[in-house]
Amino acid sequence: MALATIIGSGPNGLAAAVALARGGYRVRVLEAADTIGGGIRTHENTLPGFRHDVCSAVHPAAMSSPFFRAFGLTERIEWIRPEISFAHPLDGGRAAIAWRDIERTAAGLGPDARAWLTRVRPLSRHIDGVTDFTGNQLLRIPRDPITAVRFATRMLDQGTPLAERAFLGDEAAALMAGVMAHANAPQPSLAGAAAGLLLVALAHSAGGWPYPRGGAQRIADAMVADLEAHGGTVETGVRVSDLGSLDWGDPRRGDVLLLNTSPRLLLTHPDVPARYARAVRAYRYGAAAAKVDFALDGPIPWANPDVRLAPTVHVVGSRAEVWASENAVAAGRVSERPYVLAVQPSVFDDTRAPEGKGVLWAYIHVPNGSDLDPTELIIAQVERFAPGFRDLILAHHAVPASSREAINPAEIGGDISGGVFDIRQAVRRPVVSTTPWRTPMRGVYLASASAPPGPAVNGLAGWHAAQTVLRDAGAPAELGDLFR
Ligand SMILES: Cc1cc2nc3c(=O)[nH]c(=O)nc-3n(C[C@H](O)[C@H](O)[C@H](O)COP(=O)(O)OP(=O)(O)OC[C@H]3O[C@@H](n4cnc5c(N)ncnc54)[C@H](O)[C@@H]3O)c2cc1C
Repeated sequence: MALATIIGSGPNGLAAAVALARGGYRVRVLEAADTIGGGIRTHENTLPGFRHDVCSAVHPAAMSSPFFRAFGLTERIEWIRPEISFAHPLDGGRAAIAWRDIERTAAGLGPDARAWLTRVRPLSRHIDGVTDFTGNQLLRIPRDPITAVRFATRMLDQGTPLAERAFLGDEAAALMAGVMAHANAPQPSLAGAAAGLLLVALAHSAGGWPYPRGGAQRIADAMVADLEAHGGTVETGVRVSDLGSLDWGDPRRGDVLLLNTSPRLLLTHPDVPARYARAVRAYRYGAAAAKVDFALDGPIPWANPDVRLAPTVHVVGSRAEVWASENAVAAGRVSERPYVLAVQPSVFDDTRAPEGKGVLWAYIHVPNGSDLDPTELIIAQVERFAPGFRDLILAHHAVPASSREAINPAEIGGDISGGVFDIRQAVRRPVVSTTPWRTPMRGVYLASASAPPGPAVNGLAGWHAAQTVLRDAGAPAELGDLFR
């Protein structure tokens, strides 16, 4: 039986591991951290009994991923499916709310009801076409070309200065800008529009923006359980820094090595061709995240009552403030009133904190490598829309961008996207190829967010890498074959 060694146990590493174990490989996963899961981990890092997601917190991308659908993730763990996908508080106790129900959302957007429906409904109604288009590398013919064209025209509408004319009122403008800012990119931009349109289409699709009861760790645990049931193993506390000295078998016998890491590790392979090495060196890393976990004495007193029922909250104010915040980061600064991406999972999940208490997960975007402690900036922004928040804080744990690599070596300088995700690096990820998961080194593959389709917990880069391995071995398999 051929050996598949996988460096890293993030969602893409585990997706590749599960697929290859089911595809007939003996799978061994090597993980640098002491715990499994990479971007899908949950730790008690403030006070006992308070469980915080270390990276990802909300999982529309997992719910809509063809890989996770085939894997049966919805049946394997318990999900919370909130009625509100995301909320965007505004000054004066107002808020724009993205309900899962798009009609209800539009009804709250006053003069922009029609503009919202026209832009988003054709995408959420054809969500499989949207996720097919965005969930692969771009150098291919999409399965639903009409939806792909609709998506692309809306990218132009929202990702260029035309965006300023899309909506008449503050609510819709802020709601759209807030979801686009997930991209950690200048605004408006095509990359921001692509990320935002995917997320807003998912927000109004049947799956909405769900999250696992118990935390993101449950996803990792379910994947490892499946891997072990198919004979695979995971070793933690093993950081690989040189591919030349790693024993991963013999590629001439069909053994393979998959990297669920930054592509930089490929440069340590003794046979890396100069041209490929140049491309990997030229691959760019970008803006980063500075995060804080809060243990709270109770629910957050948002001035707007609907926001109290929203797990995900974009805390920043108007569209102008969103853009100012994101463009400051692109210019190497941090706004005094930054865009805060906040998740309060304990609103619906009683496993996250002791009875009557709560947790808040929050981060801001910062320049790569920044050592800024974002705690005070985040508290001030939440306090602005939820007076009294500060008094609820029992403990907090801050992770500046400069510390993220120590937690996960794949996050270069605190870049949580596996490399800049702009239009250029959506195509060149990390090289321009119809199979970018295969490297020129025999038997070596890239299975991380630094390969298409890029960041988010969808397991797709891992699945595409595993599918490439199986094809190269002359044993092609579709998802349906592996998970029957
Ligand atoms: C703060 C934060 C919030 C996020 N929020 C969301 C969200 O809400 N929803 C969402 O869908 N996505 C979110 N993301 C993005 C998502 O988590 C990532 O895109 C996803 O985890 C990438 O998966 P991956 O498997 O490619 O890599 P990772 O999850 O980064 O895993 C890589 C693994 O490889 C290990 N590793 C790296 N180098 C080595 C080495 N040399 N030797 C051994 N092991 C190594 C790492 O320790 C890690 O375990 C967030 C990310 C962060 C950091």
